[in-house]
Amino acid sequence: MENPVVVIGSGIAGLNFALKAAKFRKVVVLTKMELKESATFYAQGGIASVINPEDSFESHIKDTIKAGANHNKIEAVELIINEGPKAVADLIEYGVDFQRAEKGVLALTREGGHSANRIVYVGDYTGKEVEKALIAKLRECKNVKIIEYTQALDLKVAGNGVAGVWYEVEGKICFIASNEVVLATGGIGQLYEHTTNPKVLTGDGIAMALRAGAETEDMEFVQFHPTVFMQSSSGNPFLISEAVRGEGAYLVDLNENRFVDELFSRDIVARAIFEKLKTGSVYLDCRHMKQFGLRFPTIEKELQLSGLDVRKDLIPVVPAAHYLCGGIKTDLNGCTNVAGLYAIGECACTGLHGANRLASNSLLEGAVISNKLAEFLQDKKAEVIVKTVADESLYSPVFEYIEADILSLQKLMLAKVGIVRSMEELREMQKYIVEQLKKVKMTKAVSSAANWEYYNMLQVGLEIVKAALKRDESLGCHFID
Ligand SMILES: Cc1cc2nc3c(=O)[nH]c(=O)nc-3n(C[C@H](O)[C@H](O)[C@H](O)COP(=O)(O)OP(=O)(O)OC[C@H]3O[C@@H](n4cnc5c(N)ncnc54)[C@H](O)[C@@H]3O)c2cc1C
Repeated sequence: MENPVVVIGSGIAGLNFALKAAKFRKVVVLTKMELKESATFYAQGGIASVINPEDSFESHIKDTIKAGANHNKIEAVELIINEGPKAVADLIEYGVDFQRAEKGVLALTREGGHSANRIVYVGDYTGKEVEKALIAKLRECKNVKIIEYTQALDLKVAGNGVAGVWYEVEGKICFIASNEVVLATGGIGQLYEHTTNPKVLTGDGIAMALRAGAETEDMEFVQFHPTVFMQSSSGNPFLISEAVRGEGAYLVDLNENRFVDELFSRDIVARAIFEKLKTGSVYLDCRHMKQFGLRFPTIEKELQLSGLDVRKDLIPVVPAAHYLCGGIKTDLNGCTNVAGLYAIGECACTGLHGANRLASNSLLEGAVISNKLAEFLQDKKAEVIVKTVADESLYSPVFEYIEADILSLQKLMLAKVGIVRSMEELREMQKYIVEQLKKVKMTKAVSSAANWEYYNMLQVGLEIVKAALKRDESLGCHFID
Protein backbone atom coordinates (compact mmCIF):
# COMPACT_ATOMS: atom_id res chain seq x y z
CA MET A 1 0.00 0.00 0.00
CA GLU A 2 1.43 3.34 -0.98
CA ASN A 3 1.61 6.26 1.35
CA PRO A 4 -0.65 5.13 4.20
CA VAL A 5 -0.90 6.60 7.64
CA VAL A 6 -0.63 3.94 10.35
CA VAL A 7 -3.35 4.19 13.03
CA ILE A 8 -3.02 2.19 16.27
CA GLY A 9 -6.43 1.64 17.89
CA SER A 10 -10.01 1.30 16.77
CA GLY A 11 -12.14 3.23 19.25
CA ILE A 12 -13.98 6.40 18.25
CA ALA A 13 -10.74 8.35 17.74
CA GLY A 14 -8.94 5.79 15.55
CA LEU A 15 -11.99 4.83 13.49
CA ASN A 16 -13.26 8.36 12.95
CA PHE A 17 -9.77 9.49 11.94
CA ALA A 18 -9.35 6.52 9.57
CA LEU A 19 -12.67 7.27 7.88
CA LYS A 20 -11.88 10.94 7.40
CA ALA A 21 -8.29 10.32 6.30
CA ALA A 22 -9.32 7.58 3.86
CA LYS A 23 -10.91 10.28 1.70
CA PHE A 24 -7.45 11.48 0.68
CA ARG A 25 -4.89 8.95 2.02
CA LYS A 26 -4.42 5.26 2.41
CA VAL A 27 -4.69 4.11 6.00
CA VAL A 28 -3.56 1.01 7.92
CA VAL A 29 -5.41 0.31 11.19
CA LEU A 30 -3.77 -1.97 13.78
CA THR A 31 -5.91 -3.13 16.67
CA LYS A 32 -5.39 -5.50 19.57
CA MET A 33 -8.47 -7.63 19.24
CA GLU A 34 -11.51 -7.46 16.99
CA LEU A 35 -12.18 -3.92 15.72
CA LYS A 36 -14.99 -3.09 18.12
CA GLU A 37 -13.11 -4.01 21.32
CA SER A 38 -12.42 -0.66 22.93
CA ALA A 39 -13.66 1.61 25.73
CA THR A 40 -15.80 3.29 23.09
CA PHE A 41 -17.81 0.10 22.60
CA TYR A 42 -18.78 0.05 26.30
CA ALA A 43 -19.75 3.73 26.57
CA GLN A 44 -23.27 3.91 27.87
CA GLY A 45 -24.07 7.54 28.62
CA GLY A 46 -23.49 9.39 25.36
CA ILE A 47 -21.82 12.40 23.81
CA ALA A 48 -22.08 15.90 25.24
CA SER A 49 -22.81 18.64 22.74
CA VAL A 50 -24.76 21.86 22.55
CA ILE A 51 -27.77 20.85 20.49
CA ASN A 52 -30.74 22.32 22.35
CA PRO A 53 -31.38 25.95 21.27
CA GLU A 54 -31.96 26.80 24.93
CA ASP A 55 -28.50 25.52 25.85
CA SER A 56 -25.33 27.50 25.06
CA PHE A 57 -21.67 26.90 24.24
CA GLU A 58 -20.79 29.24 27.12
CA SER A 59 -22.68 27.03 29.55
CA HIS A 60 -20.99 23.81 28.33
CA ILE A 61 -17.61 25.56 28.50
CA LYS A 62 -18.34 26.78 32.02
CA ASP A 63 -19.40 23.30 33.20
CA THR A 64 -16.30 21.72 31.65
CA ILE A 65 -13.99 24.18 33.39
CA LYS A 66 -15.81 23.85 36.68
CA ALA A 67 -15.49 20.05 36.61
CA GLY A 68 -11.85 20.39 35.51
CA ALA A 69 -11.06 22.55 38.58
CA ASN A 70 -10.05 25.42 36.32
CA HIS A 71 -6.97 23.48 35.22
CA ASN A 72 -8.29 23.17 31.63
CA LYS A 73 -6.71 24.79 28.58
CA ILE A 74 -9.30 27.28 27.48
CA GLU A 75 -8.44 27.09 23.77
CA ALA A 76 -8.96 23.30 23.81
CA VAL A 77 -12.25 23.63 25.70
CA GLU A 78 -13.57 26.25 23.29
CA LEU A 79 -12.54 24.46 20.12
CA ILE A 80 -13.81 21.04 21.14
CA ILE A 81 -17.13 22.30 22.48
CA ASN A 82 -17.76 24.62 19.55
CA GLU A 83 -17.06 21.80 17.07
CA GLY A 84 -19.26 19.32 18.96
CA PRO A 85 -22.46 19.75 16.93
CA LYS A 86 -20.54 19.17 13.67
CA ALA A 87 -18.92 16.02 15.05
CA VAL A 88 -22.34 14.72 16.17
CA ALA A 89 -23.81 15.55 12.73
CA ASP A 90 -20.96 13.58 11.08
CA LEU A 91 -21.67 10.58 13.30
CA ILE A 92 -25.33 10.72 12.32
CA GLU A 93 -24.29 10.83 8.68
CA TYR A 94 -22.15 7.74 9.26
CA GLY A 95 -25.28 6.01 10.53
CA VAL A 96 -25.38 6.47 14.30
CA ASP A 97 -29.09 6.50 15.08
CA PHE A 98 -29.20 8.69 18.19
CA GLN A 99 -32.39 8.60 20.23
CA ARG A 100 -35.08 11.00 19.02
CA ALA A 101 -37.68 12.88 21.06
CA GLU A 102 -40.97 14.27 19.82
CA LYS A 103 -41.05 15.63 16.28
CA GLY A 104 -37.80 13.85 15.51
CA VAL A 105 -35.48 16.20 17.36
CA LEU A 106 -32.50 14.62 19.11
CA ALA A 107 -33.34 13.43 22.63
CA LEU A 108 -30.97 14.87 25.22
CA THR A 109 -30.11 13.54 28.65
CA ARG A 110 -28.08 14.93 31.54
CA GLU A 111 -25.19 13.68 33.64
CA GLY A 112 -23.36 14.94 36.73
CA GLY A 113 -21.77 18.38 36.39
CA HIS A 114 -23.86 19.47 33.37
CA SER A 115 -26.23 22.37 33.89
CA ALA A 116 -28.40 21.45 30.91
CA ASN A 117 -29.67 18.36 29.13
CA ARG A 118 -27.05 18.11 26.38
CA ILE A 119 -26.05 14.49 25.95
CA VAL A 120 -27.04 12.64 22.79
CA TYR A 121 -27.39 8.92 23.33
CA VAL A 122 -28.68 5.61 22.07
CA GLY A 123 -30.42 3.77 24.92
CA ASP A 124 -27.67 2.82 27.36
CA TYR A 125 -25.43 1.47 24.62
CA THR A 126 -24.28 4.60 22.79
CA GLY A 127 -20.70 3.42 22.27
CA LYS A 128 -21.79 0.12 20.76
CA GLU A 129 -23.87 1.98 18.16
CA VAL A 130 -21.02 4.39 17.42
CA GLU A 131 -18.58 1.51 16.89
CA LYS A 132 -21.11 -0.39 14.79
CA ALA A 133 -21.72 2.55 12.46
CA LEU A 134 -18.06 3.56 12.10
CA ILE A 135 -16.92 -0.03 11.52
CA ALA A 136 -19.59 -0.60 8.87
CA LYS A 137 -18.41 2.52 7.01
CA LEU A 138 -14.75 1.65 7.42
CA ARG A 139 -15.23 -1.81 5.98
CA GLU A 140 -16.58 -0.14 2.82
CA CYS A 141 -13.39 1.93 2.38
CA LYS A 142 -11.02 0.59 -0.24
CA ASN A 143 -8.31 2.88 1.10
CA VAL A 144 -8.18 1.21 4.50
CA LYS A 145 -6.33 -1.93 5.47
CA ILE A 146 -7.43 -3.36 8.83
CA ILE A 147 -5.16 -5.67 10.83
CA GLU A 148 -7.02 -7.15 13.83
CA TYR A 149 -5.64 -9.27 16.69
CA THR A 150 -2.32 -7.52 16.50
CA GLN A 151 -0.47 -5.64 19.19
CA ALA A 152 1.69 -2.65 18.40
CA LEU A 153 4.82 -3.15 20.50
CA ASP A 154 7.08 -0.20 19.96
CA LEU A 155 7.85 2.76 17.71
CA LYS A 156 11.04 3.16 15.77
CA VAL A 157 12.49 6.65 15.88
CA ALA A 158 15.10 7.88 13.44
CA GLY A 159 16.57 11.35 13.69
CA ASN A 160 13.89 13.38 15.43
CA GLY A 161 10.91 11.65 13.85
CA VAL A 162 8.97 8.45 13.93
CA ALA A 163 10.14 5.83 11.43
CA GLY A 164 7.85 2.87 11.96
CA VAL A 165 5.97 0.47 14.22
CA TRP A 166 6.87 -2.99 15.43
CA TYR A 167 3.81 -5.12 16.02
CA GLU A 168 3.08 -8.71 16.89
CA VAL A 169 0.70 -11.05 15.09
CA GLU A 170 0.32 -14.67 16.15
CA GLY A 171 3.52 -14.55 18.13
CA LYS A 172 5.55 -13.11 15.28
CA ILE A 173 7.16 -9.68 15.32
CA CYS A 174 6.58 -7.61 12.17
CA PHE A 175 7.58 -4.08 11.24
CA ILE A 176 5.87 -1.34 9.24
CA ALA A 177 8.15 1.44 8.08
CA SER A 178 6.21 4.70 8.28
CA ASN A 179 6.85 8.28 9.25
CA GLU A 180 3.26 9.09 10.10
CA VAL A 181 1.81 7.16 13.02
CA VAL A 182 -1.39 7.98 14.90
CA LEU A 183 -1.72 6.67 18.46
CA ALA A 184 -5.39 6.12 19.32
CA THR A 185 -4.77 3.49 21.97
CA GLY A 186 -7.20 4.73 24.63
CA GLY A 187 -6.77 4.70 28.39
CA ILE A 188 -4.87 3.00 31.19
CA GLY A 189 -7.61 1.46 33.35
CA GLN A 190 -5.96 -1.95 33.45
CA LEU A 191 -3.21 -0.50 35.63
CA TYR A 192 -5.75 -0.65 38.46
CA GLU A 193 -7.30 -3.64 40.19
CA HIS A 194 -10.78 -2.14 39.86
CA THR A 195 -11.53 -0.63 36.49
CA THR A 196 -14.32 -0.09 34.01
CA ASN A 197 -11.85 -0.40 31.11
CA PRO A 198 -11.67 -3.49 28.92
CA LYS A 199 -8.57 -5.71 29.03
CA VAL A 200 -7.02 -4.11 25.93
CA LEU A 201 -6.38 -0.81 27.74
CA THR A 202 -2.94 -1.09 29.30
CA GLY A 203 -1.53 2.31 28.36
CA ASP A 204 0.52 0.93 25.44
CA GLY A 205 0.33 4.04 23.27
CA ILE A 206 1.46 6.31 26.10
CA ALA A 207 4.39 4.03 26.92
CA MET A 208 5.41 3.83 23.26
CA ALA A 209 5.22 7.62 23.00
CA LEU A 210 7.36 8.03 26.13
CA ARG A 211 10.03 5.71 24.74
CA ALA A 212 9.94 7.70 21.48
CA GLY A 213 10.63 10.91 23.39
CA ALA A 214 7.12 12.38 23.50
CA GLU A 215 5.99 14.55 26.39
CA THR A 216 3.04 13.77 28.63
CA GLU A 217 0.85 16.11 30.62
CA ASP A 218 -1.61 15.91 33.53
CA MET A 219 -0.88 12.23 34.13
CA GLU A 220 -1.78 12.49 37.82
CA PHE A 221 -5.45 13.01 37.02
CA VAL A 222 -6.95 9.52 36.92
CA GLN A 223 -10.71 9.70 37.13
CA PHE A 224 -12.59 7.06 39.09
CA HIS A 225 -16.16 6.32 38.09
CA PRO A 226 -18.27 6.40 41.23
CA THR A 227 -20.69 3.57 40.48
CA VAL A 228 -19.33 0.23 39.31
CA PHE A 229 -21.05 -3.08 40.07
CA MET A 230 -18.38 -5.64 40.91
CA GLN A 231 -20.49 -8.79 41.23
CA SER A 232 -21.43 -8.99 37.57
CA SER A 233 -22.25 -12.45 36.23
CA SER A 234 -19.62 -11.97 33.50
CA GLY A 235 -16.91 -11.63 36.13
CA ASN A 236 -15.96 -8.21 34.71
CA PRO A 237 -16.73 -5.00 36.60
CA PHE A 238 -19.88 -3.46 35.14
CA LEU A 239 -20.34 0.30 34.99
CA ILE A 240 -23.68 1.79 35.98
CA SER A 241 -23.89 4.93 33.89
CA GLU A 242 -23.99 8.36 35.45
CA ALA A 243 -27.14 8.89 33.41
CA VAL A 244 -28.88 6.57 35.91
CA ARG A 245 -28.22 9.18 38.62
CA GLY A 246 -28.96 11.92 36.09
CA GLU A 247 -32.40 10.46 35.69
CA GLY A 248 -33.10 10.18 39.39
CA ALA A 249 -31.33 7.24 41.09
CA TYR A 250 -30.18 7.79 44.69
CA LEU A 251 -26.90 6.85 46.33
CA VAL A 252 -27.56 5.39 49.75
CA ASP A 253 -25.60 3.87 52.61
CA LEU A 254 -26.27 0.72 54.64
CA ASN A 255 -29.13 2.48 56.45
CA GLU A 256 -30.61 3.59 53.13
CA ASN A 257 -29.74 7.24 53.83
CA ARG A 258 -28.62 9.49 50.98
CA PHE A 259 -25.21 11.01 51.75
CA VAL A 260 -24.12 13.06 48.71
CA ASP A 261 -25.74 15.09 45.95
CA GLU A 262 -25.83 12.46 43.20
CA LEU A 263 -25.22 15.08 40.52
CA PHE A 264 -22.00 16.50 41.92
CA SER A 265 -18.99 15.93 39.65
CA ARG A 266 -17.37 12.48 39.62
CA ASP A 267 -14.39 13.22 41.84
CA ILE A 268 -16.61 14.49 44.65
CA VAL A 269 -19.10 11.62 44.39
CA ALA A 270 -16.30 9.02 44.14
CA ARG A 271 -14.60 10.39 47.27
CA ALA A 272 -17.88 10.48 49.20
CA ILE A 273 -18.44 6.80 48.32
CA PHE A 274 -14.81 5.94 49.16
CA GLU A 275 -15.30 7.43 52.65
CA LYS A 276 -18.63 5.61 53.17
CA LEU A 277 -17.12 2.30 52.09
CA LYS A 278 -14.79 2.45 55.09
CA THR A 279 -17.80 1.73 57.32
CA GLY A 280 -20.06 -0.34 55.09
CA SER A 281 -21.48 -0.77 51.63
CA VAL A 282 -22.89 1.81 49.23
CA TYR A 283 -25.83 1.23 46.92
CA LEU A 284 -27.63 2.75 44.01
CA ASP A 285 -31.34 2.90 44.72
CA CYS A 286 -33.42 2.83 41.53
CA ARG A 287 -36.53 1.25 43.04
CA HIS A 288 -38.64 4.37 42.42
CA MET A 289 -37.66 4.60 38.73
CA LYS A 290 -40.66 3.10 37.00
CA GLN A 291 -39.28 3.40 33.47
CA PHE A 292 -35.82 2.00 34.32
CA GLY A 293 -35.93 -0.95 31.94
CA LEU A 294 -37.07 1.17 29.02
CA ARG A 295 -34.33 3.75 29.46
CA PHE A 296 -31.53 1.42 30.60
CA PRO A 297 -32.18 -1.98 29.03
CA THR A 298 -28.54 -3.15 29.02
CA ILE A 299 -28.04 -2.28 32.67
CA GLU A 300 -31.31 -3.90 33.71
CA LYS A 301 -30.44 -7.07 31.80
CA GLU A 302 -26.92 -7.28 33.23
CA LEU A 303 -28.26 -6.85 36.78
CA GLN A 304 -30.98 -9.44 36.17
CA LEU A 305 -28.35 -11.92 35.00
CA SER A 306 -26.51 -11.24 38.24
CA GLY A 307 -29.64 -11.94 40.30
CA LEU A 308 -30.74 -8.36 41.04
CA ASP A 309 -34.14 -6.82 40.34
CA VAL A 310 -33.80 -3.02 40.12
CA ARG A 311 -37.46 -2.63 41.13
CA LYS A 312 -36.84 -4.40 44.43
CA ASP A 313 -33.11 -4.56 45.13
CA LEU A 314 -30.44 -2.05 45.98
CA ILE A 315 -27.39 -2.27 43.70
CA PRO A 316 -24.02 -2.43 45.51
CA VAL A 317 -21.45 -0.14 43.88
CA VAL A 318 -17.80 0.90 44.31
CA PRO A 319 -15.69 3.47 42.46
CA ALA A 320 -13.28 2.10 39.83
CA ALA A 321 -10.52 3.59 37.63
CA HIS A 322 -12.26 4.89 34.57
CA TYR A 323 -10.56 7.62 32.60
CA LEU A 324 -7.14 9.25 32.25
CA CYS A 325 -7.63 13.02 31.97
CA GLY A 326 -3.99 13.53 30.97
CA GLY A 327 -1.91 11.67 28.42
CA ILE A 328 0.46 12.33 25.55
CA LYS A 329 0.75 16.10 25.20
CA THR A 330 -0.65 17.30 21.87
CA ASP A 331 -1.75 20.46 20.20
CA LEU A 332 -5.30 20.84 18.90
CA ASN A 333 -4.47 18.90 15.72
CA GLY A 334 -3.20 15.87 17.66
CA CYS A 335 0.49 16.63 16.97
CA THR A 336 3.02 15.54 19.60
CA ASN A 337 6.53 16.95 19.97
CA VAL A 338 7.92 13.99 17.94
CA ALA A 339 7.76 14.62 14.19
CA GLY A 340 5.19 12.40 12.47
CA LEU A 341 3.79 11.08 15.75
CA TYR A 342 0.19 11.99 16.53
CA ALA A 343 -2.06 11.12 19.46
CA ILE A 344 -5.86 11.39 19.61
CA GLY A 345 -8.62 10.32 21.98
CA GLU A 346 -8.05 9.19 25.54
CA CYS A 347 -4.32 8.49 25.19
CA ALA A 348 -3.78 12.17 24.33
CA CYS A 349 -3.95 15.29 26.46
CA THR A 350 -5.27 18.38 24.70
CA GLY A 351 -6.12 20.10 27.98
CA LEU A 352 -9.90 19.77 27.51
CA HIS A 353 -10.52 17.92 30.76
CA GLY A 354 -8.23 19.80 33.11
CA ALA A 355 -7.99 18.03 36.46
CA ASN A 356 -11.25 16.11 36.07
CA ARG A 357 -13.26 15.17 33.02
CA LEU A 358 -16.87 16.28 32.71
CA ALA A 359 -19.13 13.32 31.88
CA SER A 360 -19.58 12.51 28.17
CA ASN A 361 -16.88 14.94 27.06
CA SER A 362 -14.45 12.18 26.04
CA LEU A 363 -16.27 10.69 23.08
CA LEU A 364 -16.74 14.29 22.02
CA GLU A 365 -13.00 14.98 22.24
CA GLY A 366 -12.16 11.76 20.36
CA ALA A 367 -14.50 12.71 17.51
CA VAL A 368 -13.47 16.37 17.26
CA ILE A 369 -9.68 15.96 17.49
CA SER A 370 -9.67 13.03 15.05
CA ASN A 371 -11.47 15.36 12.62
CA LYS A 372 -8.87 18.05 13.21
CA LEU A 373 -5.97 15.65 12.64
CA ALA A 374 -7.49 14.45 9.38
CA GLU A 375 -7.88 18.08 8.24
CA PHE A 376 -4.29 18.80 9.29
CA LEU A 377 -2.89 15.86 7.34
CA GLN A 378 -4.96 16.74 4.28
CA ASP A 379 -3.38 20.18 4.22
CA LYS A 380 0.09 18.75 4.79
CA LYS A 381 1.80 17.31 1.74
CA ALA A 382 2.19 13.58 2.23
CA GLU A 383 5.76 12.43 1.84
CA VAL A 384 5.73 9.07 3.51
CA ILE A 385 6.17 5.73 1.86
CA VAL A 386 4.99 2.94 4.10
CA LYS A 387 5.97 -0.64 3.57
CA THR A 388 6.18 -3.78 5.63
CA VAL A 389 9.80 -4.75 5.76
CA ALA A 390 11.92 -7.14 7.76
CA ASP A 391 13.45 -5.36 10.72
CA GLU A 392 14.44 -7.62 13.53
CA SER A 393 16.33 -5.10 15.56
CA LEU A 394 13.65 -4.92 18.28
CA TYR A 395 14.67 -5.91 21.80
CA SER A 396 11.69 -7.11 23.87
CA PRO A 397 11.28 -7.12 27.66
CA VAL A 398 11.24 -10.36 29.64
CA PHE A 399 9.76 -10.92 33.10
CA GLU A 400 9.86 -13.96 35.30
CA TYR A 401 6.57 -13.93 37.26
CA ILE A 402 4.41 -11.93 34.94
CA GLU A 403 0.85 -12.80 36.05
CA ALA A 404 1.56 -12.35 39.75
CA ASP A 405 3.49 -9.16 39.04
CA ILE A 406 0.65 -7.62 37.03
CA LEU A 407 -1.82 -8.36 39.82
CA SER A 408 0.50 -6.86 42.43
CA LEU A 409 0.92 -3.72 40.33
CA GLN A 410 -2.86 -3.38 39.90
CA LYS A 411 -3.52 -3.82 43.62
CA LEU A 412 -0.79 -1.38 44.61
CA MET A 413 -1.93 1.24 42.08
CA LEU A 414 -5.44 1.08 43.56
CA ALA A 415 -4.21 1.24 47.14
CA LYS A 416 -1.50 3.89 46.73
CA VAL A 417 -2.33 5.89 43.60
CA GLY A 418 -6.12 5.70 43.80
CA ILE A 419 -8.93 8.05 44.86
CA VAL A 420 -7.16 9.34 47.97
CA ARG A 421 -3.35 9.54 47.91
CA SER A 422 -0.57 10.43 50.31
CA MET A 423 2.92 11.62 49.44
CA GLU A 424 4.38 8.78 51.49
CA GLU A 425 2.44 6.11 49.61
CA LEU A 426 3.26 7.70 46.29
CA ARG A 427 6.97 7.56 47.17
CA GLU A 428 6.60 3.89 48.16
CA MET A 429 4.94 3.20 44.83
CA GLN A 430 7.66 4.99 42.91
CA LYS A 431 10.24 2.81 44.66
CA TYR A 432 8.27 -0.34 43.87
CA ILE A 433 7.96 0.44 40.17
CA VAL A 434 11.59 1.47 39.84
CA GLU A 435 12.61 -1.86 41.43
CA GLN A 436 10.35 -3.79 39.04
CA LEU A 437 11.78 -1.94 36.06
CA LYS A 438 15.31 -2.85 37.18
CA LYS A 439 14.36 -6.52 36.80
CA VAL A 440 13.53 -6.13 33.12
CA LYS A 441 15.84 -7.88 30.71
CA MET A 442 15.67 -6.65 27.13
CA THR A 443 16.27 -9.57 24.80
CA LYS A 444 16.21 -10.12 21.07
CA ALA A 445 14.01 -12.78 19.50
CA VAL A 446 11.41 -12.73 22.26
CA SER A 447 7.94 -11.77 21.17
CA SER A 448 5.57 -11.81 24.09
CA ALA A 449 2.76 -9.31 23.88
CA ALA A 450 2.01 -9.87 27.59
CA ASN A 451 5.55 -8.85 28.54
CA TRP A 452 5.23 -5.68 26.52
CA GLU A 453 1.89 -4.89 28.18
CA TYR A 454 3.35 -5.24 31.66
CA TYR A 455 6.42 -3.20 30.68
CA ASN A 456 4.07 -0.49 29.36
CA MET A 457 1.99 -0.60 32.55
CA LEU A 458 5.10 -0.10 34.67
CA GLN A 459 6.33 2.83 32.59
CA VAL A 460 2.92 4.51 32.53
CA GLY A 461 2.40 3.79 36.26
CA LEU A 462 5.72 5.49 36.98
CA GLU A 463 4.70 8.50 34.88
CA ILE A 464 1.43 8.80 36.86
CA VAL A 465 3.26 8.51 40.19
CA LYS A 466 5.94 11.03 39.20
CA ALA A 467 3.28 13.53 38.10
CA ALA A 468 1.33 12.93 41.32
CA LEU A 469 4.44 13.48 43.43
CA LYS A 470 5.01 16.83 41.75
CA ARG A 471 1.57 18.04 42.83
CA ASP A 472 1.50 18.09 46.60
CA GLU A 473 -1.89 19.79 46.83
CA SER A 474 -5.26 18.32 45.90
CA LEU A 475 -6.75 19.32 42.60
CA GLY A 476 -9.68 17.71 40.75
CA CYS A 477 -9.34 13.95 40.80
CA HIS A 478 -5.85 14.10 42.34
CA PHE A 479 -6.70 14.12 46.05
CA ILE A 480 -3.94 14.26 48.63
CA ASP A 481 -4.81 13.33 52.20
C1 LIG B 1 -17.59 1.48 30.51
C2 LIG B 1 -17.26 2.86 29.96
C3 LIG B 1 -18.28 3.77 29.75
C4 LIG B 1 -18.00 5.03 29.22
N1 LIG B 1 -19.03 5.90 28.94
C5 LIG B 1 -18.75 7.07 28.31
C6 LIG B 1 -19.79 7.92 27.86
O1 LIG B 1 -20.96 7.62 28.00
N2 LIG B 1 -19.44 9.08 27.24
C7 LIG B 1 -18.14 9.46 27.05
O2 LIG B 1 -17.89 10.53 26.47
N3 LIG B 1 -17.14 8.66 27.46
C8 LIG B 1 -17.41 7.48 28.08
N4 LIG B 1 -16.38 6.67 28.46
C9 LIG B 1 -15.01 7.05 28.10
C10 LIG B 1 -14.85 6.83 26.62
O3 LIG B 1 -15.55 5.67 26.25
C11 LIG B 1 -13.39 6.69 26.23
O4 LIG B 1 -12.63 7.73 26.77
C12 LIG B 1 -13.28 6.75 24.70
O5 LIG B 1 -14.11 5.77 24.15
C13 LIG B 1 -11.85 6.56 24.29
O6 LIG B 1 -11.84 6.42 22.89
P1 LIG B 1 -10.47 6.14 22.17
O7 LIG B 1 -10.79 6.00 20.72
O8 LIG B 1 -9.47 7.13 22.59
O9 LIG B 1 -9.99 4.74 22.79
P2 LIG B 1 -10.72 3.34 22.92
O10 LIG B 1 -12.12 3.42 22.51
O11 LIG B 1 -10.43 2.80 24.26
O12 LIG B 1 -9.93 2.46 21.85
C14 LIG B 1 -8.57 2.15 22.05
C15 LIG B 1 -8.16 1.18 20.98
O13 LIG B 1 -6.75 1.00 21.00
C16 LIG B 1 -6.46 -0.38 20.82
N5 LIG B 1 -5.11 -0.63 21.35
C17 LIG B 1 -4.63 -0.33 22.58
N6 LIG B 1 -3.34 -0.70 22.65
C18 LIG B 1 -3.01 -1.23 21.44
C19 LIG B 1 -1.84 -1.82 20.92
N7 LIG B 1 -0.71 -1.92 21.64
N8 LIG B 1 -1.86 -2.28 19.65
C20 LIG B 1 -2.98 -2.22 18.89
N9 LIG B 1 -4.13 -1.68 19.36
C21 LIG B 1 -4.13 -1.19 20.61
C22 LIG B 1 -7.57 -1.07 21.56
O14 LIG B 1 -7.68 -2.41 21.17
C23 LIG B 1 -8.75 -0.21 21.13
O15 LIG B 1 -9.20 -0.60 19.87
C24 LIG B 1 -16.66 5.40 28.97
C25 LIG B 1 -15.63 4.49 29.22
C26 LIG B 1 -15.93 3.22 29.70
C27 LIG B 1 -14.82 2.26 29.93
